[in-house]
Order: sequence, then structure tokens, then C-alpha cells
Amino acid sequence: MKLYNTLTRKKEEFIPMEEGKVKMYVCGPTVYNFIHIGNARPYVVFDTVRRYFEYKGYDVTYVQNFTDVDDKIIKKANEENTTMDVISNRYIEEAFKDADGLNVKRATFHPRVTQEIENIIKMISELIEKDYAYEDNGTVYFDTKAFNEYGKLSKKNLDELIAGASERVQQDDAKKNSTDFVLWKPQKPGEPKWSSPWGDGRPGWHIECSVMAKKYLGETIDIHAGGEDLIFPHHENEIAQSECCNGKTFARYWLHNGFITVDNEKMSKSAGNFFTVRDIAAHFPYEVIRFFILNGHYRMPINFSDELMKSCQNGLERIKNCKNSLIYYIENAKTVDMTSDEQKQLEEIDKFRVQFETAMDDDFNTADAITAVYELVRFINKSITDEVSKTFAEKELEMFNKLTAVLGLLEKEEEKEEDPDTAIIEELIAKRAEAKKNKDFATADAIRDELSSMGITIKDTRQGVQWFRG
Ligand code: AMP
Ligand code: ZN
Repeated sequence: MKLYNTLTRKKEEFIPMEEGKVKMYVCGPTVYNFIHIGNARPYVVFDTVRRYFEYKGYDVTYVQNFTDVDDKIIKKANEENTTMDVISNRYIEEAFKDADGLNVKRATFHPRVTQEIENIIKMISELIEKDYAYEDNGTVYFDTKAFNEYGKLSKKNLDELIAGASERVQQDDAKKNSTDFVLWKPQKPGEPKWSSPWGDGRPGWHIECSVMAKKYLGETIDIHAGGEDLIFPHHENEIAQSECCNGKTFARYWLHNGFITVDNEKMSKSAGNFFTVRDIAAHFPYEVIRFFILNGHYRMPINFSDELMKSCQNGLERIKNCKNSLIYYIENAKTVDMTSDEQKQLEEIDKFRVQFETAMDDDFNTADAITAVYELVRFINKSITDEVSKTFAEKELEMFNKLTAVLGLLEKEEEKEEDPDTAIIEELIAKRAEAKKNKDFATADAIRDELSSMGITIKDTRQGVQWFRG
């Protein structure tokens, strides 16, 4: 199994630290608003990575944090005349609702910064003791010059960074180097605070992930992931903090998803060009959003558009119809045992599994994995005729479910929910059957057309009339 490691800029064979186990950490959202579809990308992509590891038999410990203390959360709380906790609790709950809609499994741990302050203070203290950090007037900075590997992830040269920063931004006189970043900042009036050896204040952004990864996964982890905007400075700074504190490699593989763009610009809350998952879910089922995200390779940019969503909706419908047909045939099959021809066809089905795994083994190429699913769908659609045996259809469904479950698709209960028009549709089908019985073919055809205008396709089989959307 190969994955692209941002640290080496190469596809590498995945070898876990401990056989059969994967320890992974994914940076989560700052909770001051609903998540947008750009934030949903790392959710869905790394959930799929996790599912694939589990499919391969690995035991995965998955950590995703919530950043619940931040300037933007405080600003929002002030606007609403409430507390930071009220805002972050609200948007954590909303983020879970979206994650559930997108069929993203709960992480093993979902730590929150405000509950980890003690360990944050401990790590900052250790960094000061080891001369990697210094304090000035209640602010603690990380000394980037003290870590000679600074820049190894983003491939940036520290001296060039320092020179660039001094041209662009106003210097903070307390900093030894313009690239030094804040580990602890003093309280401003009216802001939430915790007491620390450097006075009342709160942690900077980067330190939280170093602390939480260590607490929940250990000093060295297998995989660290997030969106590519986090490579610099966030992940670079996490490496500096963790490796200087622990004296060990922090993460062995770094995975980064590409952006979701709008008109080819990165979608972001600050730019205001974002669509929340909640808004999109009002127009398209959540599952289509998940499918849309998995349709591209995770490192490539995806430009969000209504047309692309619609085409994904149609694609997913085709896959769903195949599953519904299989279920229908399993329920209504005339024979149970497989014929010898079906026995032979079973081997062919296995080719789609191999095709699927080859794609996923190549840096989680979900786009090619979906092609394998489409080919399986084509094969199934051709093979299920009135003669199909129940056992064979069941074997097909088993393979179908196995592969779509890795993608987190079509496994939710709500998929089995009745179509709201079921009663009307079935009444029309019954009327059509009656018309046909009376050889009133004009009426029968008119009913078929009426159903078609409702988006319903019907199929006459020996077992009865099957109907589906699309
Ligand atoms: P934030 O709440 O901005 O810290 O982002 C949470 C996660 O979403 C991080 O892993 C980001 O890298 C990721 N992210 C934010 N915007 C986008 C985007 N437009 N496309 C893909 N990933 C994004
Ligand atoms: Zn992080």
C-alpha cells in the first residue's frame, strides 16, 4: 500500500510503527460557524482512508480535535453577547450533525483545546527548559532558529523566511526572529483565560495539536493529516514543537488534501466564498456530497459547482439502483442454488475487488476505485435476469456492499427509507397492471409515461413490476 508523503514528496510504502496498527491524527475545524464543504473534504477523505485501513485489517486509532478557543470564536461570542463555550458547543454539535450526515465515523478521540490546558502548559514549560522557547512579558514564543530542521515539511529555508517576513510585516520587537511563533499569549480584557507560570492567558494555535497527538497517540505517530493550507505554518510548527520537546520523529507520514475551490479560488470562511455543508444538504442528499468529494483524487483540487453536484447525483443514483435491483431479485428469485455458469461468473466479480484495491493501494485513489464500482454495477446489471439464483445475487450484493462500505456509501438506514411517493406510484402500477389485463394498452402506456414524468422507471420482470427513480 503506497501513500504520498508530503515530508518526502514521494509515494512510499506504508509500514506502520506497530504491526497491524495505525495511529493517525487529523486537524479539525475551528468551531465558530457551520462547516463548509472545504472543511468537509478532510473529514470525508481521511474517514475513507481510515475505513480502507480497517478493511485491510488494521486497528486504527483516529484522533480529530476541535479548536474551541480562538479569536474568531471570541468575536462571535461578543457579537451574540454570550460566552465562547456557548458558541463552540453549538458548532461542535452542528459539526457532528454534518459529519453524521456525511457518514463520517466518529473518531476514537475528539479532544478539545479547552480541556487540555494542563498538558499544553506542561509542554510549553518543557520547551522553555530545553531552550527552544522564551518568554517576554507574558507571551511565550517558539525560537525557530533553535530547531535546525525548521522548514523540512514545507521545504522552506528559514533564513529566506526571516528575510521575507521582515520585508512584509511589522516586527514584533519581543520576537528574536520574525518567524518565531506564539505558544502562549497573555489575556486581553474580557477574553477567556487560564492561569499559567507566565501569567493569565491562553495557548496559541499550533501547540494544541502537538499536545493532543502526544496524549492520545504517543510521541511518534504513523499519520498526520489535514488540508494542504496547514502544511505551513501549522504543521511545520507542530513538528518543531513536538520534535524539540520529545526528541523523536513526530509523524512518519504526512497526508494533505487539496482544496475545494469556487471559481478556482480556495473556498474559505474568511474569503466569504463558501457554501456550508448544511446549505448544500438542503438541495442534495448528504450522500451526494460525500460522493462528490470522493470522485476526485484527494490531492487534486475540486472546483465546486452545481453541475458537478448534479452529475454526481446521477452517478450515485445509478449505483443505488443497482443495489435496489439486487435486493429485489434476492427477495423474488425463483431458484436458490447457483448454476455452474454463475459459479464461473463469481471469479469475474472478484476482478472488480482487485481493481478497487489496486486503486486504493495507490495513494487512496478513490476516483479509480469508483470506476471499479461502476464496472461492478455494469456487470451486475447485465447478470441479473429473471433466471438469476438467489445465492448468486446475494454474492453480488456482498461484493457490492463490501466495496461501497469502504467509500462510506449506501450503508445508511435512511437509504432504505420509503420514497415519499411510494403509495401513489404503487397505485399507478396497479392501475397499469389492470389496464394491461383488460388489453387497454393505451391507458397502460399513458400510466407508464405519467410515472416517467415523475422520474420513475418501471421494469416488467417475471417476478412482478420493479420501479426505481432515475
Ligand atoms: P479550519 O476550520 O479553517 O481550520 O479548517 C479545518 C480543516 O479544513 C483543515 O484541515 C483545513 O485544511 C481544511 N480546509 C479548509 N478550507 C478548505 C478547502 N477550501 N478545501 C479543502 N480543505 C479545506
Ligand atoms: Zn493541527
